Amino acid sequence: MSRRINRVATVSVHTSPLDQPGTGDAGGMNVYVVEVARRLAARGIEVDIFTRATSRALPPVAELAPGVLVRHVVAGPFEELDKSELPRQLCGFTNGVLRAEASHEPGHYDLLHTHYWLSGQAGWAAKRRWGVPLVHSMHTMAKVKNAALADGDRPEPAERVTGEEQVVASSDQLVANTAEEARELIELYGADPARVATVSPGVDLSLFRPESPLLARGAGLLPHRTGPARRRLGLPREAYVLLFVGRIQPLKAPDVLLRAAARMLAGDPALRSRLVVAVVGGPSGSGRSRPEGLQALAADLGIADVVRFEPPCPQGELADWYRAADVTVVPSHNESFGLVAVESQACGTPVVASCVGGLCTAVADGESGMLIPGHDPADYAAALRRLHAEPGLHARLARGAVRHAQGFGWDATVDRLLEVYTGAMSLPAVRIPPPAPSPPLTAEVSA
Ligand code: UDP
Repeated sequence: MSRRINRVATVSVHTSPLDQPGTGDAGGMNVYVVEVARRLAARGIEVDIFTRATSRALPPVAELAPGVLVRHVVAGPFEELDKSELPRQLCGFTNGVLRAEASHEPGHYDLLHTHYWLSGQAGWAAKRRWGVPLVHSMHTMAKVKNAALADGDRPEPAERVTGEEQVVASSDQLVANTAEEARELIELYGADPARVATVSPGVDLSLFRPESPLLARGAGLLPHRTGPARRRLGLPREAYVLLFVGRIQPLKAPDVLLRAAARMLAGDPALRSRLVVAVVGGPSGSGRSRPEGLQALAADLGIADVVRFEPPCPQGELADWYRAADVTVVPSHNESFGLVAVESQACGTPVVASCVGGLCTAVADGESGMLIPGHDPADYAAALRRLHAEPGLHARLARGAVRHAQGFGWDATVDRLLEVYTGAMSLPAVRIPPPAPSPPLTAEVSA
């Protein structure tokens, strides 16, 4: 019989659950870690989240919610570090995680859940020391990312690929966001299919809901975006609003939306007085080297007057942006899931997304939005023109969007995760392979 789970150690080395998502390294993974931790705690399972201390001012321990603690582990300089610099801090970080447990009775944590490969590396050592199961979520995978790079994006280094392979081989359970990710774990990383579980992420359906009560009940024929959200955001009732939300980097391809908008205007100059392209989020990844790049592109395309750039904001405010938008556009080159797409649909706003990764699950093509193969702005412009010209189609997709999003609540995610945790507690532990023997020193090397 498996033990009851009382306490989970969650590890998120490179980004803190206290950070504002939508810029830098903070995005869907942060939202995931926070939402799952809150709901586990509400079910009587305490969660400690370990993350790296990026400032001296951070307290060693902060309460995120009742039953959820954030533990700031001192490892390396008190500053934000690029992910490429973090492997060098993993030894210190892992040491800090191990010390935190050592200050309690043995057996303090029942299970480790690590997020992203860097955390998996720390979890690997903690699993061995504590004798508890390791559950790991990849969130993104180097081999998948490298196969779908945007122009100008750096490939993920070999060091990450090897690190991910080691984490896959050492985890008792791997959590994939979609069936496609599960397949990639098995086919690209050699994961044991018996140890891969698909668990859909969720959205906060109490926060992300339509403005119109009619649409919330799955009815409503008229465009719904004329109410308080537009007033609060200072958007005119008659505007036609296209929305991008997320971390601004080539991988997310916000440029495709700008180029598509420029094409729409070229074909329909009268639209200029009504079109608003809203971009909510801040620079991230390789986008940090050119933080003004998207503004420059809007100017080059001659559409700077219709593009509104907004800094990242809390989800409460974001819900207003989704409600105010006519269409949310998610043209990413790669997306492990795409929470933004589901949040938008939950608010009754159809999504035009690229047909990649998790977006093919997050959006029901022709029912809750449109999936576009590839990243040709002409294709996005065509889909957006059609939604603009056919209010009946738009209204049908808006109703379908609300329906589709109902399948993605965080409570369902946590129900399923608890099954995975229980499975991990009852399966025989994966034995961590011993380190490969060092090759004999040759005269050349030892010289
Ligand atoms: N987000 C936010 N404020 C912003 C922009 C984004 O809270 O200004 C959140 C958004 O609600 C979503 C997450 O960031 O939950 C982004 O997740 P997604 O899966 O779409 O992309 P990721 O960041 O994981 O690549």
